[in-house]
Amino acid sequence: MSQAHYRQDGDIAVITMDNPPVNGLGHGLRSGIRDGIARAMADASVKAVVLTGTARAFSGGADIREFNTPAADASPHLLDVIDQIENAAKPVVAAIAGLALGGGNELALSCHYRVGAPGTQIGLPEVNLGLLPGAGGTQRLPRIVGASKALDMIVTGNPIRADEAAKLGYFSKLIEGDFVAGAVAFAREVVAAGAKRPRIRDLTVDPASMPGGAQAFFAAARDQVAKTYVGYPAPMKCLECVEAAAKKPFDEGMKVEQALFGELIDSISSKALRHAFFAERAASKIPDVPDDTPQRAIKSAAVIGAGTMGGGITMNFVNVGIPVTLLEMKQEALDKGLATIRRNYENTAKKGRMTQDEVEQRMALIKPTLAYADLAQADIVVEAVFEDMAVKKTVFQTLDATMKPGAILASNTSTLDVDQIAGFTKRPQDVIGTHFFSPANVMRLLEIVRGAKTGKDVLATTMALSKKIRKVGVVAGVCDGFIGNRMIEQYSRQAGFLLEEGCTPQQVDGAIERWGFSMGPFRMGDLAGNDVGWYIRKRRYLEKPDLRYSKTADLLCEMGRYGQKTSAGWYDYKPGDRTAYPSAVVDEMLVKERARLGVTPRTVSDEEIVNRLVLALVNEGAQLLDEGIALRASDIDIIYLTGYGLARFRGGPMFHADSIGLPKVVEIMKGFEANPQADPDFWKPAPLLARLAAEGKRFNG
Ligand code: NAD
Repeated sequence: MSQAHYRQDGDIAVITMDNPPVNGLGHGLRSGIRDGIARAMADASVKAVVLTGTARAFSGGADIREFNTPAADASPHLLDVIDQIENAAKPVVAAIAGLALGGGNELALSCHYRVGAPGTQIGLPEVNLGLLPGAGGTQRLPRIVGASKALDMIVTGNPIRADEAAKLGYFSKLIEGDFVAGAVAFAREVVAAGAKRPRIRDLTVDPASMPGGAQAFFAAARDQVAKTYVGYPAPMKCLECVEAAAKKPFDEGMKVEQALFGELIDSISSKALRHAFFAERAASKIPDVPDDTPQRAIKSAAVIGAGTMGGGITMNFVNVGIPVTLLEMKQEALDKGLATIRRNYENTAKKGRMTQDEVEQRMALIKPTLAYADLAQADIVVEAVFEDMAVKKTVFQTLDATMKPGAILASNTSTLDVDQIAGFTKRPQDVIGTHFFSPANVMRLLEIVRGAKTGKDVLATTMALSKKIRKVGVVAGVCDGFIGNRMIEQYSRQAGFLLEEGCTPQQVDGAIERWGFSMGPFRMGDLAGNDVGWYIRKRRYLEKPDLRYSKTADLLCEMGRYGQKTSAGWYDYKPGDRTAYPSAVVDEMLVKERARLGVTPRTVSDEEIVNRLVLALVNEGAQLLDEGIALRASDIDIIYLTGYGLARFRGGPMFHADSIGLPKVVEIMKGFEANPQADPDFWKPAPLLARLAAEGKRFNG
């Protein structure tokens, strides 16, 4: 069956796109439009054509199900259909509702007229996948909405609403009510007025849309883009295309667009961004928990502990209208926690992103309490008390005795054994780990820890809940540190060794930040509090007396240098200033420690720093895959992109390893093993890495 239905309404042909959910422009739909247009041209009784979609979508652009399949390249291409429409012998009117994005918008721009339903979104979001609109969008959009607006839309990928689009001249008319009937009536008016077929390609970009003239306008824009999008090549290429639209004839501009699109599609950053896009979708699939697994209703929540994490977790729920009962041990702690939440909302309101009424509405959804009896009816309770098994034990025993049957009992522990926690209750099937990342109201990652006895319905409900509170849920098995923190431990160990060998904290941070982490390990330690890691090391490394690690972080803590909170950590801080200043005290401590170890400091290259930190992550990631703690390599990548501040253009540590090539990864690791200072065990490739490298395979399929 065709994906574009054809009907006639008097002398107007109506072609309706029908490829749910959003009229992705796959091969079937492209062919259907082509056939419909050809039929309308051949039929003398047709005077004009209306091309439309559904109320939900004119078209969302390329059909992602077709990516990397032969159908994507099968004729007709979108450009062929666009040419056919633009040069059609009868007027073609696009009737747009819902959204016209990417290729869908480019299709609309090829029509002679556009009419739209209010509320419709118009955009060119290709840049989010490291690409640029490659079907004329960069050339036509500036000709109709002006260079400044088009540049903003194409470089940021942000859509605009129909009313703004209408003001800019994108729409000939906005239609209230039945937009297809309105479009047909509009098409009749066009016919009555002489059936003109204006083509956007014949326009020139309005000079008034380039304040200061084209030269100055693009020079300033270029500076801005270069500053804003470090590491991402696509925004600058988008700019070059819009500049070509402003300065060159249409056909020459199209050549620029095609050439730059070709460069981007093969670029590693676009591959990384596309990988991230698909990885995020894949993360929601759990092989033995099908989509139709029954779920429990979550209409109310409770949070235990109103500290750093509990406050942020509470905000996540109330932000989507789920009321929260928030429990603390003491009134003072409760008041302090609530005040922090209020301050966060008020800061948002000050920035104009929320009204004062909304602040009050959200605060009203929080019911503070000191009594467990008040939580009993909550559908889910998230525990965020101190990271101490004895405390968790008391809390879970109390929850077991208090909560209604069927409530989900979740722990925000970052390292403790969720199975042991489940064992404190008589309902281990209801217990799950929900590991939020700090700040919990901001970071998108939610590591969902599946215990040995966690019920499938509990897992399915928690995954769905993560989506509802706008997080990316990624499943992890039970182990010390789960996925993200178990990997970061190896990264931190390497960071410590680098200090022993001669690096300064600022050198290590600088190298890895330039590579793509928003914060290096030492700035991160200072922000999170170095005492947190100290506490964990004391517990962990007591059990592993033979494990080699650098004592520098312990020495730092022994000096009371916990980080920003003590105005001194790996760096020095001035009161009220978060700027990290290199510290002479730390340098002196490092010099002494190297002397104690008998190490002659050497100069370590940035390349070595990056490889050692990143490959430490990769090797542990491989181990986690082998153990089944992580379901897929792309899950690990998503964890690093959404929870650890790794730039999306890197695609994640496992994607990075794949793009270097696993044999090369093993070779680099062998080189590190030869370093006389190296821990001989550290660089032994994990069995999975060794196997895949030998077989010439990749982590990510
Ligand atoms: P925090 O010290 O800021 O807050 C803990 C709060 O729990 C305190 O307000 C305390 O009064 C309260 N509390 C302690 N025992 C309690 C009890 N028995 N009943 C009720 N309230 C109690 O700690 P945090 O940083 O919010 O960490 C909480 C949990 O989240 C820990 O398990 C931690 O490992 C985990 N976590 C922390 C981070 C982080 O970056 N801070 C990130 C992920 C997970």
